Amino acid sequence: MSFWDFLFPPVCPHCGSHVATQGDWCETCFTDLLHIRHVPHKFLHHVDDVCVLAEYRGGLKSMIYDVKFNEKKEQSKGAAPFLASYNFYMKYDTRSITGDNYKNVYDYIVPVPSSEKKKAKRGYNQVDLFFANWAHTLHQINKTYFIWLDCIYKFDTSNDMWALTNKERHQNIDDAFVIRAEYNNIELINKSILIVDDIYTTGATIEAVAKVLRVYKPLKIDALTLASGSF
Ligand SMILES: [Zn+2]
Repeated sequence: MSFWDFLFPPVCPHCGSHVATQGDWCETCFTDLLHIRHVPHKFLHHVDDVCVLAEYRGGLKSMIYDVKFNEKKEQSKGAAPFLASYNFYMKYDTRSITGDNYKNVYDYIVPVPSSEKKKAKRGYNQVDLFFANWAHTLHQINKTYFIWLDCIYKFDTSNDMWALTNKERHQNIDDAFVIRAEYNNIELINKSILIVDDIYTTGATIEAVAKVLRVYKPLKIDALTLASGSF
C-alpha cells in the first residue's frame, strides 16, 4: 500500500466500497455494469460492427464525465477492467495474437479525436486515456497488430451545435472529420481497423469517422466503445 493509498484508500467508483487498487471496481458493481453486446446491424452504415462493453449509468457514467469535463485524468483507469473483459471475450491471449488465428485481431486502432481546441483546454483526448495503454499492451505481444493510429482530425463544431436541428447536427458531425494531412497517403487496403470511442449514442460520430476511413478501402472497420445506453 502506498502512502497515497493510505491517505485516500481506493474505492469502487460506483458504490464507494474499498478495493485493492485505484481504478478497480468492486465485484458486484463491475458485474452489474459489464454488458458486452453488439449494436444491431440495421443501425450501421459505414461501420461493419460496433461492440459496446458496458452500461452507461451510475459509476461508469460519472467516471466518463469526470475524465471528460472535470479534468480527473486518474479516473480513466476505471476503463481497464472493462477492456480486460474485452480481451477475454475476443480471446486476446498470447496464443491468439502470435499464433495462426488472426481472425479477430486488428491492424490499426483509430481513436475518435477531440477538436484541437478541446484537447488544448483539457490537456488530453479522453479516448486516448481510456484506450491507448490497452492497445499498446496488445501491440507489444505482436508488433504487426494493434498499431495506434491517431490519423483523424476533428474540426471544432462545438460553437453552434445547440442551435442546429437534428438533421443539421448530423450534417455538422458528418463534415467534422478528415484524415490528418500527414496521413493522406496511408495504405489501408485490406487492413482491419477498430475505431475506439468512450460512448455510443446515435452512432453519428463513429459513422462519420468510418466514412472518412472507408475511402482508403480497408477490409473492415469495426468500432469499440466503453459504454452505451440501451439501443
Ligand atoms: Zn461497487
